[in-house]
Amino acid sequence: MITCTNCETPQFLQITQSRVYFEDGEDINEISESYECTLCGSTGQYIYDEDHDEETVTGDVERTTERPKFA
Ligand SMILES: [Zn+2]
Repeated sequence: MITCTNCETPQFLQITQSRVYFEDGEDINEISESYECTLCGSTGQYIYDEDHDEETVTGDVERTTERPKFA
């Protein structure tokens, strides 16, 4: 789950841009999501690299270990 580091809640985060990268029409290799907090205006980006099972979070958002119930 992505949360705003400023407000410490995911409640006001909106995805402003979402991209999924494919390699040769096969499985998803990378997911890129840009976030904006509508409460404080913070922005951040979340990138998931499936090939390396790596998550990168930049900006004023953070990835919490809490998992969504319906993942
Ligand atoms: Zn915020």
